[in-house]
Amino acid sequence: MDKGAFLERAREGAELIKMHIELGHTIRLVSHRDADGITAGAVLAKAVIREGGKFQLSIVKQLSEDIIKELASEKHRIYVFSDLGSGSMGFIEKYLSDATVVVADHHPPEKEGFSNDSHVLVNPVPFGANSVRDLSGSGVAYFVAREMNEKNRDLAYIATVGAVGDMQEIDGTFHGMNLDILEDGKELGILEVRKELRLFGRESRPLYQMLAYSTHPEIPEITGDERKAIEWLRAKGFDPDMRYWQLREEEKRKLHDALVIHLIKHGAPKEAIDRLIGDVVISPLYPEGDPRHEAREFATLLNATGRLNAGTLGVAICLGDEDAYKKARKMLDDYKREQIEARKFIVQNWSMADEGDHAYVFYAGKNIRDTLVGIAANIAINAGLANPEKPVVVIADSDEDPNLVKGSARTTEKALARGYHLGEALREVAEKLGGEGGGHAIAAGIRFPKGKIDEFIRLFNEALGKQLEGKKGED
Ligand code: C5P
Ligand code: C5P
Ligand code: C5P
Ligand code: C5P
Ligand code: ZN
Repeated sequence: MDKGAFLERAREGAELIKMHIELGHTIRLVSHRDADGITAGAVLAKAVIREGGKFQLSIVKQLSEDIIKELASEKHRIYVFSDLGSGSMGFIEKYLSDATVVVADHHPPEKEGFSNDSHVLVNPVPFGANSVRDLSGSGVAYFVAREMNEKNRDLAYIATVGAVGDMQEIDGTFHGMNLDILEDGKELGILEVRKELRLFGRESRPLYQMLAYSTHPEIPEITGDERKAIEWLRAKGFDPDMRYWQLREEEKRKLHDALVIHLIKHGAPKEAIDRLIGDVVISPLYPEGDPRHEAREFATLLNATGRLNAGTLGVAICLGDEDAYKKARKMLDDYKREQIEARKFIVQNWSMADEGDHAYVFYAGKNIRDTLVGIAANIAINAGLANPEKPVVVIADSDEDPNLVKGSARTTEKALARGYHLGEALREVAEKLGGEGGGHAIAAGIRFPKGKIDEFIRLFNEALGKQLEGKKGED
């Protein structure tokens, strides 16, 4: 990708923010509700504080025309969107034409830039980046912050937590500009990258939970079954109640070898084995055994706050608030438990899924919470329920509006190679259904009226089918 040109955009965004700080204006920050968005918001908030500025921050589930209208009615001089905004450029131009706007995001944008001079799109995708590998929303926020002040390099760890929350290193290694953030962090001594077991629970979970909770990859016969995880660990000579961080280096290696052999024996695909042991980021800023010490556990903690509509608590944690951290720890346990319940439900009821020519659609009603459908869709793929070359959508009733359903689509690199782009397909289908949809090629979301699930199934399969035809035309 063209890093120089991207950083130039980041610098333009940074200068606008600094100018408004100097003028005494409140910087209106709006960020996305997952770990990536929460860390992005925290990075920008910290950068504003550092320049002596004031900010007001909201964490939202998604942008919509209504939310943008509402923001416009607040009449701020400057709005900064992070980890969202690229799919709402039209509405931003329509309602915020009188204000300065900086969008710091990594979603594939509606167009390459804004037409209004006081609006800046800082997004690596038009410069050649892969939106789900090379940089996350927190990473874009980091580069804007770094252009505001070199001192903001000390936010490299928080930015990396966001990247891990978005699974940017899902294949086992970091890519693209994520690597530059890691280099900054290493230089400052605030983070370290190791080759370790890439599963949730390194710090605060006993080994048996770390294995039983693993959904990407799935560990055959162990994922979802704590009792079997305990037996397996005992049989291999491990104390199931130990924490991974407490193991000596040779014990870690022994565990890695035993797991790899287990996966091979059960015929796990090569990708599953590759992603099991890989880049793990830890930070000496926090003590060992603390979820914040390792990026994946930190990200999960933040996701837990976001999903319970307590995203600003997550931001406070990133800014070093110990009370906020204590409150959030309680949320984490429930969040993990719900994920395991969602897994159980989809595994047991997968025969209900509609298998079309191009996609599986699984409607879970109220059995899976609408904030967990993305995870459920990935589970259907990783647990081998779905053919990995066919995208999966899991739909649940909306938590907020009884007339709406929320769907998340997920797929694999293999399916993308055939020519699918889930974000484009869902945007198109949402327009026809009177809903909202969009996102990345590999991971995208949609909300639409509840009565239209059958129509959704037909339109989504059609849209994906057309993408393949378009692709054939190109070849
Ligand atoms: O996909 P989505 O945004 O919903 O994922 C939110 C979080 O859940 C991410 O941090 C991701 O790592 C995690 N996740 C997971 N297991 C999956 C898919 C996602 O824990 N199978
Ligand atoms: O909003 P957004 O950028 O925050 O989130 C990206 C989403 O893509 C996350 O839900 C993450 O779990 C998902 N993802 C995925 N597979 C990948 C990479 C990201 O499901 N290979
Ligand atoms: O990403 P990984 O495969 O290591 O995830 C293992 C477990 O951790 C999964 O059960 C997933 O649900 C959880 N996880 C999460 N949030 C993240 C990362 C992982 O809930 N950000
Ligand atoms: O909602 P879900 O987690 O399935 O979203 C997957 C990805 O699609 C996220 O990156 C999210 O920000 C994006 N998305 C979007 N526009 C929507 C819905 C989801 O860009 N209307
Ligand atoms: Zn993101």
